[in-house]
This record gives sequence, structure tokens and C-alpha cells, in this order.
Amino acid sequence: MARYIFVTGGVVSSLGKGLSSASLAYLLQSRGYKVRLRKLDPYLNVDPGTMSPFQHGEVFVTDDGAETDLDLGHYERFSGVTAKKTDNITTGKIYSDVLKKERKGEYLGKTVQVIPHITDRIKEFIKHDTSKEDFVICEIGGIVGDIESLPFIEAIRQFSNDIGKKNALFIHLTLVPYLKASDEIKTKPTQHSVKELRSIGVQPDIIICRSERPIPLEHRKKISLFCNVNIKNVIETVDVKTIYEAPISFAKEKLDVQVLNYFKLKSKKSNNLTPWKKITKITLNTKKHINIAIIGKYVELKDAYKSLDEALTHGGIANNIKVNLVRIDSEKLKVSEIKSKLKNVSGILIPGGFGKRGTGGKIEAIKYSRINKIPFLGICYGMQMAIIEFARNQLKIKKATSSEFDKTGVHIIGLMNEWERSGKKIKGTDKDLGGTMRLGSYDAILKDKSKIKDIYKNRLIKERHRHRYEVNIAYKDKFEKKGLIFSGLSPDNKLPEIIELKNHPWFIGVQFHPEFKSRPLSPHPLFSSFIKAAKNHR
Ligand code: GLN
Repeated sequence: MARYIFVTGGVVSSLGKGLSSASLAYLLQSRGYKVRLRKLDPYLNVDPGTMSPFQHGEVFVTDDGAETDLDLGHYERFSGVTAKKTDNITTGKIYSDVLKKERKGEYLGKTVQVIPHITDRIKEFIKHDTSKEDFVICEIGGIVGDIESLPFIEAIRQFSNDIGKKNALFIHLTLVPYLKASDEIKTKPTQHSVKELRSIGVQPDIIICRSERPIPLEHRKKISLFCNVNIKNVIETVDVKTIYEAPISFAKEKLDVQVLNYFKLKSKKSNNLTPWKKITKITLNTKKHINIAIIGKYVELKDAYKSLDEALTHGGIANNIKVNLVRIDSEKLKVSEIKSKLKNVSGILIPGGFGKRGTGGKIEAIKYSRINKIPFLGICYGMQMAIIEFARNQLKIKKATSSEFDKTGVHIIGLMNEWERSGKKIKGTDKDLGGTMRLGSYDAILKDKSKIKDIYKNRLIKERHRHRYEVNIAYKDKFEKKGLIFSGLSPDNKLPEIIELKNHPWFIGVQFHPEFKSRPLSPHPLFSSFIKAAKNHR
């Protein structure tokens, strides 16, 4: 039977519960155990799919097509385990499931309540499809004390009771602040947070203390005493210079050893930190750098392009070079400024996006990179914009556009059922914005002798999608005659998946999101190749 580890947070949010959970997963894996990671989010949205990246950061997409919290990206990148639809749940989804059941009369007229109906559904989610795992790490979003997280905490309390305390472990992550004025480390916020947790029936077994500086033994002892936790299980996590140091720092603090001790399990192997040490060294010591411009709509919020930023960094690691991200707001990018703003960049990237705002600046920047032979990578919306730019300026279809934001022009980009001649509707276009996209992993077949095949070194690839619109295949010949090749297609040859320019050192657009599959210990080939081209361009 699987053992369950529940990770809660206290005092403030953004302490790195996701990163701690992901690091612990890696450490347990490297001790020889099979681990699954899950996230329980307390908000009322049914899934993060329709949430603004400005507010909530990136929407992470899984192979099986779920739009999930960005923490699942951390989990995948650190543990290498491909997340599934069933690894992320929100309060909204829980309630909607319970209410659906109620409407069908499945509760046989009983009063439907938070306890037991909502908590039962949460427990069902935690347990579902975990019989083959050694460990299931469940991170609870938000912090203890939030009204929203109460049913989750209650559910994990019940769960540990149901499966027996020896099979469930509670980890609480808190902040141990340092006060400069008095030159002191303060344990009181942690004590209060644990008190709050205990008042709803959960006694933490391990406390991870996030701190700016090392926590002296006497303070650890205090936390141990007041929070009723063995001193060995008061674990500090001091700010690291790069996230790749996190597994190393948790290993130093013996987090994995303490977890195994709790469950009375032996370590099957000694943990392997070499790969993390290697990439930490590259990340911290590499002096050379290149600038890569990301021209997008959500550049202000750091987490809005989380996986993309990570994938570019991974591309840098593969090439032993530091990648500086120059974030440019596409809405503010004036045509007159393009040259000056892009003067010092070695590569230009247009990420995924939605709607009309900022398209003008993106199209001009693409033209600039095409003409000046600057390495260019267009992702999803970025590829669609590259198609529009080429159609307007090279094919002289001045009104070339996407039906996503212009209903009257020539729709080279559109919904398939807008231009599918056979009339076969492939995707729905309901008014309901949730769940109407092409989501998750799809195959693409790469063209022989293309740059992309050289990069992937494979004919068949599988990448993750998240879009409604497609490039109209009917224009393929026109583009190819002018030197823009459709070098990757869906297996039925109907959907352009990849485009590349013939007479350009590196100009590639992809309809999918390769960033979701890049990992620090195995950088994605497309990003490694893009950064290599940018490095050569300098
Ligand atoms: N808005 C475009 C579409 O829906 C692109 C989406 C994206 O870049 N992820 O097709």
C-alpha cells in the first residue's frame, strides 16, 4: 500500500511548498521508491484553464490534456514523473462533482454536507489510482487558517485516521523570519501556525522552516518544544541561489532520511545528488551569457511563463551559457522601437497567447528576426503570428489574419470547422470557454531533411497542445514555394504542427508547447538547439 505525505503551508504563501514537495519526491525516488505528486487547490474555479496568467501564473498542461496548476510543472521537472489529469483538483471541481451527484439523486435524499460528502470526495481524489505507488505526496494549496482550505485539512485528518497514522505523514512548511532591527530570528509565527493546524486536528510530524539565514539550534529546540515535534524533524530550508540547489539542501538536512524513518522504511539506495550538483555549478558559475527576448502579453508577472523560462534556462545549461531573459511587453512595443529594443538580443521568442492585444508588435518583431536572420522560436500563438507575418509580407496576402481576432480578413488561421471543406466538425465551439481546446499530447510527423528532424532526431514526436485555432493546410504549397516549409504535420496530414524558414539560420514555429516537457536534467532538444543557434549568432 502507498504511504501518503501531506504538505501544508503556514504563515505566508509562496514559501515554496511546490518546490519542497518536488525535491522530496526526487530524493525518495533516488532512494529507490516510486512517488506520485498531487496538488489540491482551494479555489472555486473548476480548473485553472480559464484563470488569468496575470493572477495565477502559467496554466500547466499534462499529456492527458488537463489544464493544471503550475506546481505540477515543478513536480514533473524535478521528479520526471508525467503528471496526469487526476493529479490536480480544486474546490470548484470537488463541489461540481458532488452537486452533479446530488442532482442525479445519488445521495438518496440525504442532506448533502461538507462533512462527509465534500470530504469524502476529497479523500476519493487522494486515493484514486495510487495502489502502485510507494509514496503519494499531496500538497495543499493556500495556507492553514484560510477559510477555503478547511475542508481539505479536515479531509486529510480523516484520511490519516482511515489508513492508520503510521501510513500518513504531515509536513508543515512555515516561515521563520529574521528581524533586522533586533537582529533576531523569530519562531512565534511558526508556533501560531502549528497551533492553528492542531486546532483542526492535525499534528505535524515534520516542520520545514523557511528562513533567510541558518536557524540556530536553540531556536530549533524552541520550535520542537512548542510545536511538539522531534528536534530531528525540525528542518530548515535556507534561501538557495538557484532552485536546482533545493534537492541538495533538503538532502543535507536529511529530509528524506527522516521521512523514511517515520515510515520505518529502509533506504534502498544512497541518494544521487550528482546531476543537481552539476547543473547548480553550471548555473552559478557560468560567466558567459546571451540575451533572449520574450515578447508577450503577460511579461509583468514572473510566473506567467514559468515553464518557458525554465526551458530556456535548461537550454542554457545544455550549452554551458547563462540565458538572460529580456521580457518585452508586446502591447507597448512600438514599431519605431523594434530595432533599438532588439539590438542586443541573440534570439527572439514569441510565446503562446490569446486575443488581439499586442499582435502588431509581435508581427513586426517576427519580420525583424526573419529579415535580420536572428534566431526565432514561435510557440503556438507565436507560430500563428509568424504565419500571418509571412503571408502578409511574402505572399502579399495583405489581409491575412486569424479569425480569433479579425472576423473579416483572409483566415489563414482559423477554427477547423470554419475552413474544413468536408464539413466534418473536429472540435466543438460551445460558448462554454472551459474545455473547448485541443489539449494534451498529440503526435506529429517530421519531414525528412528538415531542420526540425535534425533537432529531434526522430520521425514521430509527441508534444503537448493548448489552442483552439489552427493554420489552414490549404495554404501549404503557397508558403513552401516562398521558402517557408511545413516541416511537421499531424499524422493525418491535416494540421500544420511545425514551420521553418529555408534561408534562415534558425527560424522555427511550433503549434505545440515544447516547454512543458523540458526538464533540468534532460533539457528539451528544441530549446537546446535554439540557444545554441543564439549563441552562434552573437
Ligand atoms: N490563441 C491561440 C489559439 O487558441 C493560441 C493559443 C496558445 O498560444 N496557446 O489557437
